[in-house]
Amino acid sequence: MRLYDTLARELQELKPIDTETFRFYCCGPTVYGPAHIGNFRTFVVQDVFRRALELSGVPTMHVRNLTDVDDKTIRDSQAAGMTLTEFTQGWTEKFHTDCKALNCLVPHIEPGAVDHIPQQVTMIEELIEKGHAYAADDGSVYFKISSYPEYGALSHLDERDLDLGKTQNERAGNADEYDKDSVADFVLWKSRRDEDGENYWQSPWGEGRPGWHLECSAMIREYLGDSFDLHSGGEDLVFPHHENEIAQSKCSCGGDFAAHWFHITHLLVDGSKMSKSKGNFYILADLIEKGHTAAEVRYALIGAHYRKQMNFTLDGLHAAGEALGKILKAERALAEKAGLADAETPSYEELLGLEDKGLFENAWLGLNEDMNTQRAIGAMFGALKRAQNEVDALTQWKGLHFMLHAFGIELPVVEVEEKVDIPADIQQLAEARWQARVDKEWAKSDELRDELKDLGWVVKDGKEGWSLEPLG
Ligand code: AMP
Ligand code: ZN
Repeated sequence: MRLYDTLARELQELKPIDTETFRFYCCGPTVYGPAHIGNFRTFVVQDVFRRALELSGVPTMHVRNLTDVDDKTIRDSQAAGMTLTEFTQGWTEKFHTDCKALNCLVPHIEPGAVDHIPQQVTMIEELIEKGHAYAADDGSVYFKISSYPEYGALSHLDERDLDLGKTQNERAGNADEYDKDSVADFVLWKSRRDEDGENYWQSPWGEGRPGWHLECSAMIREYLGDSFDLHSGGEDLVFPHHENEIAQSKCSCGGDFAAHWFHITHLLVDGSKMSKSKGNFYILADLIEKGHTAAEVRYALIGAHYRKQMNFTLDGLHAAGEALGKILKAERALAEKAGLADAETPSYEELLGLEDKGLFENAWLGLNEDMNTQRAIGAMFGALKRAQNEVDALTQWKGLHFMLHAFGIELPVVEVEEKVDIPADIQQLAEARWQARVDKEWAKSDELRDELKDLGWVVKDGKEGWSLEPLG
């Protein structure tokens, strides 16, 4: 697979550095509220990326963290009158439910920041020891940007004049997030403040908590080591978050950190940034309530190439529903032709490494050329049209299911209703029993029910009338 690398600014071929397993890290959600569909554009694209690697026969190690302590989680847990753990656990469960509905594979490891405080403290100690960090008078610790000349390579800060030497506190009020105009020594350890309440830990610099950027560096080191294959997130994370991660990790661990950087462009809704006040802020539950399915949302989220800004609209979601209907219809026709109408569809595991994808090879190539889901979906439709006329329907059917697994599209199962032939005398008895019920002749109705039972049939009454099922 070839993918655009944010750091190298070019398409690069991806190969696992250990030549076996492709090990990658995705910055996960901040669990202080429901993840919105913008977040899910990023998570779904990352999921398709993993699927594409695995389906090509490369095993993966997928690590995605949970940000369960930062300015926002602390602020909102207090507003909710809950402990930080209770609060973030509730939102983590909701996030998992949405991920499952959207058919996202579960990461192999999903570590949380709170469970890795000692690792973060160790990293700070190393950074201080190596001259890359310093403690301020209030007990906060800062990364010294001037000690790392390569700082800014990912976000191309090198193309700007930087006035270094100030701390983040002086520039951005110590916030976890800040913009490029606030480039400054950033915080690694935040000394305890009143507003933190009970959310503080002990450290060699006094009570406090880690800065947001540090958690990913510490957890990456724990689970992927000093050098790994790829790091990913939404485009907003390039600066400062990923820039700071690089500085922390390279200066403390000394490895190469990520070999590749994969950033997903933001999603807009109705042409503008999502915001609650504009009424264009969607979470999965809102869309389901409007009558859409999670499969439609997933399909819509991969409809555009990840490097293009995506405009999410309800019309687009309707179109996704129609497209899924067309795929299902074509899939059923193909299955019929292959004599597999009643067969189970091949599982993800069964299709790993499938060589012959038939006419769907083009769609697969689209996906492998910079994860172009848009091109791949177009090619899949082209192949679907032609597949009906191919002699080898089985190959085409497998090729289609291979692509559906790559996109993570699960088609609804078409229930084949089992027809039961009801003998005429049984039918008559059941009708007579129903009439007895209508006439409120309860004893007669019970008698007829027992008689039917003796003959091997159960009567069930529902809103619409009665139905018969064979016993046993
Ligand atoms: P957060 O929960 O804010 O930490 O974000 C989780 C992930 O979603 C990160 O990779 C973000 O970069 C990404 N993200 C946030 N907003 C959007 C958006 N509108 N479109 C695409 N990705 C987003
Ligand atoms: Zn991160």
